[in-house]
Amino acid sequence: MSMRQSQPELKQARQQVMASTQILQNLIPPTVSYTTQGHVLIIGPEDLARLAADSLPTMASRVILANETITSQDEAHLEKVINAAEGVESFYNKLKGIKGFLGQFQVNVDADEGGVAELSKVAIRQAHFDIILDLSTSPCINLEMLPVGYLYVGQDEAKLADAIAQIPDLVGEFDKPRYVKVNAEVCAHNRNGLNGCNRCLNFCPADAISSIEQKIEIDPYLCHGAGSCTNLCPTGAISYDLPTPASLHSYLEKLISRYRKEAQVAPVILFHDNMNGSELITEQLSGDVLPIALEEITVASIDHWLAALAHGAREVLILNTDSSAPTLVQMLQGELSLANRILDEMGQPQRLRLINETDLANLAEPLAISTTWPVIVPMVHTATPNVTNAKRDMLYQAIDHLNSQAASIQTQVAIANVPYGQVKVDVDKCTLCMSCVSTCPTQALKDGGDKPALHFVEQDCVQCGLCESACPEKVISLVAQVNFDKESRQALTTLKEEAPFECIRCGSEFATQSMVHKMVEMVGAHSAFSANVERLKMCGDCRVKDMFEDILQDPEKQLR
Ligand code: SF4
Ligand code: SF4
Repeated sequence: MSMRQSQPELKQARQQVMASTQILQNLIPPTVSYTTQGHVLIIGPEDLARLAADSLPTMASRVILANETITSQDEAHLEKVINAAEGVESFYNKLKGIKGFLGQFQVNVDADEGGVAELSKVAIRQAHFDIILDLSTSPCINLEMLPVGYLYVGQDEAKLADAIAQIPDLVGEFDKPRYVKVNAEVCAHNRNGLNGCNRCLNFCPADAISSIEQKIEIDPYLCHGAGSCTNLCPTGAISYDLPTPASLHSYLEKLISRYRKEAQVAPVILFHDNMNGSELITEQLSGDVLPIALEEITVASIDHWLAALAHGAREVLILNTDSSAPTLVQMLQGELSLANRILDEMGQPQRLRLINETDLANLAEPLAISTTWPVIVPMVHTATPNVTNAKRDMLYQAIDHLNSQAASIQTQVAIANVPYGQVKVDVDKCTLCMSCVSTCPTQALKDGGDKPALHFVEQDCVQCGLCESACPEKVISLVAQVNFDKESRQALTTLKEEAPFECIRCGSEFATQSMVHKMVEMVGAHSAFSANVERLKMCGDCRVKDMFEDILQDPEKQLR
């Protein structure tokens, strides 16, 4: 396959293929509703806040929280301020904190009589404010993605005019999609009170995700659908809903294969966000670049990028605009560098790139370079039978295919802090108690059924560390790595196995050898047990029988 068509031909092929290929979306997605009556709190210098309040006469109520000194002593200005928003009360209490979202803002301030007071209760006898207009020099809510209903304009007149026009429309009932869902069954955050994975918790620019009573919870009212949590989740426990990961995979596969067939060229996939990136996609875009609009650029994750290449794209670009939240960009850079490192190890070119607006305008040269790279033959992938590990299965299928198209390395590459790798067990000290197996959320660790054994499948391990914490003997350690050897990665390996221990009285198998030896070693030396060490080698029934026989023979023994 080679670049042998003209730009008009390529653009025509793109147009045809994109028109006939759609992402399957839930047309009636689950939503959350906001209800507001129009109680507005205006925070900022009192003069500006009062003038803003004057421009919002139709609201149910207006309250000013003056947190900065007035901006001008000009007489005419002050005259205007004095006559503005008559009847609107100003409060001067120190702001302690704001929580909530459209229709539910709780604003805490220092109370006059000491302690903390809820301003809405004091000012308007309501449980909350509906809308906050913030004119402060710096925002009172310090988040990259602000809650719906909180409008920070600072002292920017154009933004203030926009907000004043928008606020009266924020009265009534509004719906917003639930972008993300959580499947607690497969989440590796916490098991049996032990802490494991925290990957999703650190990159939410809207502060919508938290660990509540040891469970990962998303506040759907605060969630903007940024997708950093779903991008980083190694188990797929937290997943995007618009589109689902499976829909996006299927769309990528169809789009790339149809384009390759139509244009006879390996395309470049360009992920961009709906809101700001779409404006930058014009007819000037090279005909071999297929733009895909997502709610945020983080919605497609490492499995989608590498699968797109494995389906036959020659490059994947992600368009970062000035509006992308810095936290999301930082997160993407980390994941892209990991994915490119994986490509590099197998001898593939660096096919994944985060680009900005200037790069987008200057794509011709890099695109010409990538046409000289080896063309990837599309993979024939198998639908994953294991739905709980679908994300990892797809990722590894893509890695294996890309590897087979390059150096076919069979090595393991140690990379710190990645959710892929092995567990190591000190077999001499492991008692096969199976605490780790019952804690492992992905079933990477398995018991031996009827036989005392501990088995492990590397491909299923997300390096959450729950097994390490659960192990009472402290003999488990984690080894983060990417294993390019498919066979060893997918194999059920035996970490330890041994014969069962047979009761010395009835011969039934009742424990593992290691466990009985450990018990004998630990409690056998204790004065209360030393006379009856042999009983530790008996099953429960025989131990009771043996004790009663002892008592019958010598009834006073138990009193001694
Ligand atoms: S498994 Fe996923 S949802 Fe659970 S803590 Fe880790 S990243 Fe979060
Ligand atoms: S084997 Fe251990 S580290 Fe790996 S997924 Fe299971 S509990 Fe987590």
